Amino acid sequence: MSDSPKKPAAPTRRKAGRHRGEGQWAAGHFTPLNPNEQVKKDDDGLNVRTRIETIYAHRGFEAIDGQDLRGRMRWWGLYTQRRPGIDGGKTAVLEPEELDDEYFMLRVRIDGGQLTTVQLRVIAEISQEFARGTADITDRQNVQYHWIRIEDMPEIWRRLEAVGLSTAEACGDTPRVIIGSPVAGIAEDEIIDGTPAIEEIHRRVVGNKAYSNLPRKFKTAVSGSPLLDVAHEVNDVAFVGVVHPELGPGFDVWVGGGLSTNPRFGARLGAWVPLEEVADVHEGIVGLFRDYGYRRLRTRARIKFLVADWGPEKFRQVLEDEYLLRRMADGPAPAQPPHAWRDHVGVHRQKDGRYYVGFAPKVGRVDGTTLAKIADLAEAHGSQRVRTTVQQKMLILDVAEEQVAPLTEGLAALGLTAAPSSFRRGTMACTGIEFCKLAIVETKGRGAWLIEELERRLPGFDEPITININGCPNSCARIQVADIGLKGQLVTDDDGRQVEGFQVHLGGALGLDPAFGRKVRGLKVTAEGLADYVERVLRAYQDQREDGERFAQ
Ligand code: SF4
Repeated sequence: MSDSPKKPAAPTRRKAGRHRGEGQWAAGHFTPLNPNEQVKKDDDGLNVRTRIETIYAHRGFEAIDGQDLRGRMRWWGLYTQRRPGIDGGKTAVLEPEELDDEYFMLRVRIDGGQLTTVQLRVIAEISQEFARGTADITDRQNVQYHWIRIEDMPEIWRRLEAVGLSTAEACGDTPRVIIGSPVAGIAEDEIIDGTPAIEEIHRRVVGNKAYSNLPRKFKTAVSGSPLLDVAHEVNDVAFVGVVHPELGPGFDVWVGGGLSTNPRFGARLGAWVPLEEVADVHEGIVGLFRDYGYRRLRTRARIKFLVADWGPEKFRQVLEDEYLLRRMADGPAPAQPPHAWRDHVGVHRQKDGRYYVGFAPKVGRVDGTTLAKIADLAEAHGSQRVRTTVQQKMLILDVAEEQVAPLTEGLAALGLTAAPSSFRRGTMACTGIEFCKLAIVETKGRGAWLIEELERRLPGFDEPITININGCPNSCARIQVADIGLKGQLVTDDDGRQVEGFQVHLGGALGLDPAFGRKVRGLKVTAEGLADYVERVLRAYQDQREDGERFAQ
């Protein structure tokens, strides 16, 4: 436990100055200013893997060091999950060890959302053998297991890594999964395929101890789709496909997006980057964040706070002067997407004449048995590739025209329709109280119930609508940018009892006119009254909207 975190190669020449109070390494300030920074300095999070394999997997949960348990385990995708039976009212009052179960949540990173059927089958088998069948598709294209025992981790890693999958830096203050367009390389309307850039970014930064002690998590998105399909507006860094009038297809660079508390949309740097230089620029931005990012307060440590203080012009200047050592070309902004749905659900032609089929698990909830059947079904209809989306949906690629109908019928038989209702298509939910230690309310089951209720109550509703459900004030399900965002909390019902419910945010949107939903003052609904409330809002929208008007307008 003695390796100190790798310090930046540049720019150590600065003297501690007015930014010293923020704990910036670039200001020469390496003394940890909070317990999280101390844990990272004491030992690199990546080093916990060795202890898991040589000690904890043999001696069991009780042998795990406290700093590793609630800190470094994340560097390998592991979080302790919530002990069953603890209600949301106790979340804020219990000590972490009282909330901890001896089982773990494990996140598998799926960079670009790209999987082969062989990889999907391995994910399914691990779910069935080690995770009590759990396997959720997250809104960052990952797969998330629950009920994982520390004893099983060496075997789980062996199986994942044998097929090229990893849990490295799936959580923690690290470069998290690099999300990508689910139709990269196949879409007829693609501006540019970002897959080579995703692969090169992964090769350079994931598991690299030069970047394994960042001030906070660091989220990356790359998409060359005109649908702007990776929620680039709310990532720490994003590369969005554009066509430069002289230089051709490349990427527009965005920095500083993020939700949770103090949500901010990313800012354009106004720079155009060719495909082969995306990894350079990304590495420069990660390095800049490592060196200049604020480390004093966890609540101010995301890159969005640095971008807010500096502005995009200064950010670009420092990036070019100190990290890239050259100027980037100026470039255009992305164009308005052709339509509101960004999820690729349905049947669509690929540029090679075959088809991809996007289908909708309810709120991302699948299971090992279903995933294995999806792999079987894809292969039976000539496909060996699947993708996950940032809307908790899935795609099967490379389907010959004559195989589309039998494939969609097979998916429907699994309860996975390629022609879902607007509600099923547009509803997302975070993990919630079932497994998350920060949760106050249940989300997944409630989201599935809400979809069914709305389908029954509003059968003809076919407008694009997004309903995002969070189990606490964090924003894992992106509530601030949903048409209807529901933030889990305890509310008082008509009888004066404290019950599970939601603070309502209305009118959020992503796209070129992004907006954060307005918190409807005083409007809190009980979980029981949720379907009644959403039905009322949607009926009022249908009655009052002008032609072509979207919910967020
Ligand atoms: Fe947990 Fe809250 Fe995130 Fe939901 S939003 S997964 S409850 S931290």
